[in-house]
Amino acid sequence: MPDRRPWNFSAGPAAMPEEVLRQAAAEMLDWHGTGMSVMEMSHRGPAFGSILADAEADLRRLLAIPADHAVLFMQGGALAQNALVPLNLSRGRGADYVVTGSWSVKSEREARKYCDVQVAARPDGDFVDIPDPRTWRVREDSAYLHYCGNETIDGVEFPYVPAGFAPPLVADMSSTILSRPLDVAAHGCIYAGAQKNIGPAGLTLVIVRRDLLGHAAAACPSAFDYTVLEAHRSMYNTPPTYAIYLAGLVMQWLLRQREGTLQGVEAMAERNRRKAEMVYRCIDSSSLYVNRVAPTVRSRMNIPFHLRDSALDAAFLDGAREHGLLQLKGHKSVGGMRASLYNAMPEAGVRELVDYMREFERTH
Ligand SMILES: *Cc1c(COP(=O)(O)O)cnc(C)c1O
Repeated sequence: MPDRRPWNFSAGPAAMPEEVLRQAAAEMLDWHGTGMSVMEMSHRGPAFGSILADAEADLRRLLAIPADHAVLFMQGGALAQNALVPLNLSRGRGADYVVTGSWSVKSEREARKYCDVQVAARPDGDFVDIPDPRTWRVREDSAYLHYCGNETIDGVEFPYVPAGFAPPLVADMSSTILSRPLDVAAHGCIYAGAQKNIGPAGLTLVIVRRDLLGHAAAACPSAFDYTVLEAHRSMYNTPPTYAIYLAGLVMQWLLRQREGTLQGVEAMAERNRRKAEMVYRCIDSSSLYVNRVAPTVRSRMNIPFHLRDSALDAAFLDGAREHGLLQLKGHKSVGGMRASLYNAMPEAGVRELVDYMREFERTH
């Protein structure tokens, strides 16, 4: 084992920036002279109040979130949002869903419990491409048009924000938020579970245009009503305080990142582009590894790949572990391997992965 922490390629809960973990460890017993751990503080006290306000302000800076969008810190994960989006935003009308992979399948199915759902587009066959938006069937009077920015399991990522549709866009950005600049203003609502690129599990971020608030279904639980949460600054009930604190440290870490003249999310985007390119180049130049996703929509965050001979899977994973490369096993529904390259994965880790893949191919 090398004398560093192993590189963790998990799709989620995923690696955190090591600097953030060290800072959290140093502040664990006594946050800024308060004599308390953040997890022991009242969520209504001034200390936690400043932690929450800073996390929101830093997120707004990183993504240039316009003032007419509210930021909500929620719980329940992205899957809860599959129900909460229609409960909060469908207003008794229909909703259209673009299906590009396993997560948007789940979103569309769950929404059917709450509103009249139409699938606007879905590729024929496997999830390896995104149907051309000019072919999408979107109803003018739908309450919203939902899509998944990055399909974490299938490795399919939108390289653009869909444009030209009448209904407001709603996006599941769980596994791509903060990995590149994002046109928040073009969206009515964006949601993301934290455990990929934001912080620990237990926190869900929702960014919603304020003019869409105020129309939750009567059956929507108050603790999950966007309007109630907005009115209480995400503190209608106890929020996931420690997860918000860690997410706040991740925002500060992101604001410190530099890449030439680029900063923050733009710096991450450049680094993430290079990281993904290294892995795809390795896959495409090999006769052992395969990724079938159309090159223009390949994910920069999650790279699923298969070994041509799946009998070698176990040897590949064992060898990876010996080289300090963890959690490369693919999602059970697709098999094979998956390398997740979120912000917290440095280029050095990706270089070691690619070196290992080449060495494995040479020796097998
Ligand atoms: C991980 C993930 C989910 C599920 O998130 P939970 O927090 O487990 O509910 C949904 N959508 C996408 C795109 C994801 O990556």
